[in-house]
Amino acid sequence: MNDDAVRLDDVSRRYGSGGGVVHALDRVSLAFPRGSFTAVMGPSGSGKSTLLQCAAGLDTPTSGTVTVGGTELTGLGERRLTLLRRERIGFVFQAFNLLPSLTAEQNVALPLRLAGRRVPGARVREVLERVGLAGRARHRPSELSGGQQQRVALARALVTRPDVLFGDEPTGALDSRTGREVLALLRGMVDGAGQTVVMVTHDPVAASYADRVVFLVDGRVNGELAGAGADAIAARMTTLEAVPC
Ligand code: ADP
Repeated sequence: MNDDAVRLDDVSRRYGSGGGVVHALDRVSLAFPRGSFTAVMGPSGSGKSTLLQCAAGLDTPTSGTVTVGGTELTGLGERRLTLLRRERIGFVFQAFNLLPSLTAEQNVALPLRLAGRRVPGARVREVLERVGLAGRARHRPSELSGGQQQRVALARALVTRPDVLFGDEPTGALDSRTGREVLALLRGMVDGAGQTVVMVTHDPVAASYADRVVFLVDGRVNGELAGAGADAIAARMTTLEAVPC
């Protein structure tokens, strides 16, 4: 058993063909160790979303392999891939994507129900407590603030104890104070529970909560910063955005 929650080995994703081909990812190799928090940054169109989608089994690389929790995704049939995504991968989005007619606890229980599993009330309460929402279990999304809704989405993503939690701009729709609360929660899950988190963000402050920042340019890894503050990350982004296309 190796210590990587997720690995990408020589992953390429091309769209289109002939003269119109786009190399959204071009031979990317990255490892995300268990219990680490990684931010992925890069200019618009650099391949961040494609990287997340391929790593989460929502998109299939044109070549190369993706491994989650020791299982290679590439080559799995659609049914096994769906099961693996449901049980071993958590996802939080910029738009919280909660079902409006369900209460917080029903939203959190949904991944277990979809997997046809028994829904242990204690587990649902435990994850809601971990995100600080034990007192809001019976509230519907419309009765919760944006930050609270994102915390419900986090609890839902964590209920199956996934190998990895992916975030696509998870604080993009929140004001900065609320966003920081969500980031502090993510940081706490990494430090306290050994959760692995991989998050795409445009925001250097958000990225500074991560252990390392991976920079993409034109579908390739352009370098990394470890343990950097927001100013150093912002300075690096400025140099990347100045790279001519
Ligand atoms: P980012 O998230 O960094 O903005 P993306 O991963 O969305 O970048 O896109 C990387 C490149 O791949 C861009 O040039 C984009 O236009 C292209 N691309 C992404 N998805 C598709 C698609 N479904 N069809 C064609 N081109 C795509």
